[in-house]
Amino acid sequence: MEQIQKNIAQVEEKIAAAAKRAGRNPEDVLLLAVSKTKPVELIRQAVDCGLHALGENKVQEIMDKYAPMGEGIHWHLIGHLQTNKVKYIIDKVDMIHSVESMKLAEEINKRAAAAGVVMDVLVEVNIAGEESKFGVKAEDTEAFLREIAPLPNIRVRGLMTVAPFVENPEENRTYFRKMRELLVDINAKRIDNVNMDTLSMGMTGDYEVAIEEGATIVRVGTGIFGERYYPERQQ
Ligand SMILES: *Cc1c(COP(=O)(O)O)cnc(C)c1O
Repeated sequence: MEQIQKNIAQVEEKIAAAAKRAGRNPEDVLLLAVSKTKPVELIRQAVDCGLHALGENKVQEIMDKYAPMGEGIHWHLIGHLQTNKVKYIIDKVDMIHSVESMKLAEEINKRAAAAGVVMDVLVEVNIAGEESKFGVKAEDTEAFLREIAPLPNIRVRGLMTVAPFVENPEENRTYFRKMRELLVDINAKRIDNVNMDTLSMGMTGDYEVAIEEGATIVRVGTGIFGERYYPERQQ
């Protein structure tokens, strides 16, 4: 068996176990394979193992891999998105996880309208209030949602976070729980056009805890494809 096939089987087992512990259906958790920096041949192996949803954090990488990977892939943009690059991916991705400014939401809305689509988006929340991280603050999330909700060509599906880098995943449990509470609280306000069902949280180091706390998309790179190699600063 190829290493990647073993990795995927292991991740899927852990997802199923975590869902079971939380009394959830494993099928309600999407395993998004984060393929950044990885070559098409390796990504193809993951797709052949049944992973059809791929996450990339850079527009350029989606553009480079889009044609070679061909039909049947669900691309998700998970990294910071510059307004001037929206036009390159609007017809290529199924979901944008990293909406965090009105300017970006308006540009996605405009480009989606021009392309004749309604784009699924998540609002990125900086749940731990880390200075180095993108995302809106927890306390600003509701106001931001009220602002972007009227845009007709985006559909807000939920919230996303990149939790702090920690040694022990238990340290992030409280942040994942806060994300879920935020989503539930905001849904309860019945804001027009805001009915969220998606929580994108949990990476290789902490996806099991994230699932126990309600994640519906986990973004796993290293756990599937192995370590990434690039100069520190470019991550
Ligand atoms: C790289 C990346 C991931 C995956 O990280 P791993 O630790 O390799 O699983 C998840 N989310 C985002 C936004 C990323 O940039």
